[in-house]
Amino acid sequence: MEHFNITPIEYLKGVGTERGKILRSEAGIDKMWDLLNYFPFRYVNRSNYARIVDIPGYEGQSIQLKGTITGVREIGTGRGKRLQATFQDSSGTIDLVWFKGAKWIKDKLKPGVLFRVYGKPARFGPKWNIAHPEITPFEQVAHEKGLQPIYNSTEKLTKKGLHSNGIEKLTYQLATSSRGKITEILPQEIIDEYRLISRDEAYHLIHIPKTAEDIQKAQMRIKFEELLFLQLELLLRKNANIEKSEGFAFGQTGKYFDEFYKNHIPFELTDAQKRVVKEIRKDLRKGVHMNRLLQGDVGSGKTLVALLSMLFGIGNGYQSALMAPTEILAQQHFKTIEELMAPLDVKVALLTGSVKKKDRVGLFQELESGDIDILIGTHALLEPTVKFKNLGLVVIDEQHRFGVAQRARLWKKNTKPPHILIMTATPIPRTLAMTFYGDLDVSVIDELPPGRKPINTMHFFEKSRLRVFDLIKNEIGLGRQVYIVYPLIQESETMDYKNLMEGYEAISRTFPRPNYQISIVHGQMKPDDKAFEMDQFAAGNTHIMVATTVIEVGVNVPNASVMIIESSERFGLSQLHQLRGRVGRGAEKSYCILMTGEKLSQEGKKRIQTMVSTNDGFKIAEVDLEIRGPGDIMGTQQSGIMNLNLADLAKDGQLVSAARDTARAILKEDPKVRLGKHRGLRTELKRQLKAKPNWSKIS
Ligand code: ADP
Ligand code: MG
Repeated sequence: MEHFNITPIEYLKGVGTERGKILRSEAGIDKMWDLLNYFPFRYVNRSNYARIVDIPGYEGQSIQLKGTITGVREIGTGRGKRLQATFQDSSGTIDLVWFKGAKWIKDKLKPGVLFRVYGKPARFGPKWNIAHPEITPFEQVAHEKGLQPIYNSTEKLTKKGLHSNGIEKLTYQLATSSRGKITEILPQEIIDEYRLISRDEAYHLIHIPKTAEDIQKAQMRIKFEELLFLQLELLLRKNANIEKSEGFAFGQTGKYFDEFYKNHIPFELTDAQKRVVKEIRKDLRKGVHMNRLLQGDVGSGKTLVALLSMLFGIGNGYQSALMAPTEILAQQHFKTIEELMAPLDVKVALLTGSVKKKDRVGLFQELESGDIDILIGTHALLEPTVKFKNLGLVVIDEQHRFGVAQRARLWKKNTKPPHILIMTATPIPRTLAMTFYGDLDVSVIDELPPGRKPINTMHFFEKSRLRVFDLIKNEIGLGRQVYIVYPLIQESETMDYKNLMEGYEAISRTFPRPNYQISIVHGQMKPDDKAFEMDQFAAGNTHIMVATTVIEVGVNVPNASVMIIESSERFGLSQLHQLRGRVGRGAEKSYCILMTGEKLSQEGKKRIQTMVSTNDGFKIAEVDLEIRGPGDIMGTQQSGIMNLNLADLAKDGQLVSAARDTARAILKEDPKVRLGKHRGLRTELKRQLKAKPNWSKIS
């Protein structure tokens, strides 16, 4: 094993200097070990040939045929131009079609030669064809039987003879000569527990499988290993942190918490809220720095949990801060919390970008003298000029992309780092949370307050708009209020504005004054004007709120029962879910209406269908992960830390949990990975850590 790790790829027979260079630059293959880790992305079963007459039974599957070409012709013109060949076996004929690269293919299609054809048949009316099949003269077929691994290649690799077949020759050779030489690194008990095959066998079978079961076993072993090392790394970093970072001990519940909880809390907490408050309370009294992620679907009541946590701090002599991503949301929190705190001797203040300079001076003084107990605001809170007397807890709302670097800035605000509670309503799939937030403890509010009716989500095409207007009229007649949201077009603010304004005008015509009052909010308005319009709507003075996505987070108007999302195919899933969460906050039946154009992309269709079929934020998050992949959801920078080659966070949820449990158990028994039986783990862990950039220092 050792020598595969250090031997440059050039030394493999058939590689040499030139190919070595290209393998390195194109595929990142530097050492022999890297080639062993260059896994096939699929396998083709070369043992079975289908008969053309049986093709209808294989719809949607890739199949292999054996036969000859009987005719070739070019048809169509311009963009519709294509090459079509008739392919025949003893049972019938089928058309093979190429839209691109026709010339090159044409020269290859010699009548009378026996070919192997591989591809996915599709039906065109009564006829079947295969578009862009893989076609190989039979005398050149390397794998006449068994499972052939297929590798990714590039144009440059192909030029050096390293198309999939060329790469296969190299991996075949290497996986054969390495057989019996790759040392085991996992302790026997783990191998037994998960019935894993040995490392040696896995690296052999992944490249040279005999059966589908071989592939499955090899993949499982390699995926498990990838996920295990990722978890070990995250947990080790987290443990190192716990040792290092002392935090403030909030030793008592405190009089503010007790007073509020006994006499002023507006409703009974849900069981989930109670559980989470307990978890937080337990954390805060330990004298260890808390870093906790609070996940709860929209409307699950996170704000109250945040407030109760802050009251622990205040009762122990510490100030708290609550940070929101937008000004509107900060204002909303300020209003809610100030009202709730009115009967108590707790001073709440608001700091956003639009607080005037002269007002700031006074505010800063009160903050430094400790008069202010809770400071609510936007990112403005992070600025170095904002100094506290004794900041003990920071709550960050609705912002799971709030980075490690930003969290680190909070550390400078006191002698010890304040405790941190991050709240997110965009549920992060469990597997992702486990991986990305390996450094955070996670609390989940998995229950909505009682009396909520599920939101009825419907999809309407543009042509059914009149029916939608009827629904709006009806709901307004019942005393309810309605949101109509337009997408923000990133590339063009002016187009955005135009869309919104046209929509606004159309709606104003359909819902004229004085019977109907309409509010409008968009990104180009001054904060004060926005706040005014929001207030009008919140107070029930207007019936319809026309807005861009500025209302996405945090707005709380329980009387609103209809959310109409225009051009909803342009929104991502988590955004749609967030927007939908603006209704269904009261006890009335609510509707979410997704308007779209006639033409929907596959993905767009899937998003809409998902929204219509479920209200469960976690399910939606999982579909989102499937569609977009982890890099897109978490930001590429963060996903770069995960050297996942085979494992897939969207599909291998169970393995992620298993790996996490295993990593926990290992570190519980052997926190520094020093035991003899863990020597293999230790060596590999060191090797991996050395190869990775130092991706962050976690706060
Ligand atoms: P989110 O988790 O989306 O931030 P909020 O904290 O804004 O949710 O709460 C949503 C609504 O539910 C608010 O109107 C809040 O007052 C209300 N609420 C919170 N907890 C409860 C509860 N235990 N019982 C009834 N209503 C609650
Ligand atoms: Mg909230």
